[in-house]
Amino acid sequence: MKRILYLVRALPGQELEPLRAWVEIRGGAATAPPRDRLVEEARGATILVPTYLDRVDGPLLDALPTVRLVASYGVGVNHLDLGACRARRVLVTNTPGVLTDATADHAMALLLAAARRVAEGDRVVRAGGWREVDPGFLLGTEVTGKTLGIVGFGRIGQEVARRALGFRMKVLYASPREADFQAARRVPLDVLLAESDFVSLNCPLTTETENLLSRERIARMRPGAIVVNTARGLVVDDEALAEALRSGRIAAAGLDVFRDEPRVPEVYAGLGNVVLTPHLGSGTRETRAAMARLVLEDALRFAKDEPVLHPVA
Ligand code: NAP
Repeated sequence: MKRILYLVRALPGQELEPLRAWVEIRGGAATAPPRDRLVEEARGATILVPTYLDRVDGPLLDALPTVRLVASYGVGVNHLDLGACRARRVLVTNTPGVLTDATADHAMALLLAAARRVAEGDRVVRAGGWREVDPGFLLGTEVTGKTLGIVGFGRIGQEVARRALGFRMKVLYASPREADFQAARRVPLDVLLAESDFVSLNCPLTTETENLLSRERIARMRPGAIVVNTARGLVVDDEALAEALRSGRIAAAGLDVFRDEPRVPEVYAGLGNVVLTPHLGSGTRETRAAMARLVLEDALRFAKDEPVLHPVA
């Protein structure tokens, strides 16, 4: 009898045909079902495929005791209770690497958009608000030559650095380990916050990084600094950031991730100096299809009793 693979939701660019010879595929609707329906639909599944939005925890695994592989679509694993998986001998895989460039591009897009008021300008033009030629209109912040502080200097953080160096920015980073990266300087987080004109968050969400950009740390940032978050929403204290944006102490922010997606915290709603995107970091056709390929490749290997390529430690 074939093993069952359950897709919590459809993956863009998924190629399921090669898998069908090995597994029976269930689920894959455009939106994820509520948990009780998911448990019903996934009953008997050996392989569960959630995305970065779908929580997998002890109670879910207990309700689906046949699951042996959680093949997660995305690189972040904060939505997975890894301890619960380990305790139940459930293997976990993710999709690192293939989304690095796209996410670094998006961090730069947000950095530039926030600095040069791209979204604000678009809104003003569409609303008919551009009526005079005024050299002082909607002035932004220069990027070239400024200091960028990168928090979390792994795959994505280092690619953000490479792009920033092309803008002749100085790059600082705060990360648990020294990276083999000559053109950037590792400094303690508080030094990074005090010296950076731009701060890009590129760390994973863990118990240490939750609320990393706290009210106290925001208060230590340079006046007029710009924040870019393509990591996870919970890394930032939204109330404190919104207050700093309202007062102008933080000039602007570019935010791609939020604590309770797809909801965006109310506090940002009325702020013109925030650029908001709906978790688009990895959102190119090419990257999202490559992520689907990685997930399904590991699912196939698992179904064939071969070692998976991207186990989460
Ligand atoms: P990665 O290669 O593991 O890099 C993360 C880096 O953060 C590592 O160097 C890690 O150091 C460091 N780090 C861990 N704890 C830290 C702390 N307390 N302070 C500062 N740095 C810390 O992961 P990645 O592929 O670059 O992805 C990073 C994160 O980006 C993911 O976890 C995910 O949440 C987010 N992401 C978002 C999108 C999006 O669409 N917006 C797309 C992809 C990824 P160690 O290795 O020493 O622990």
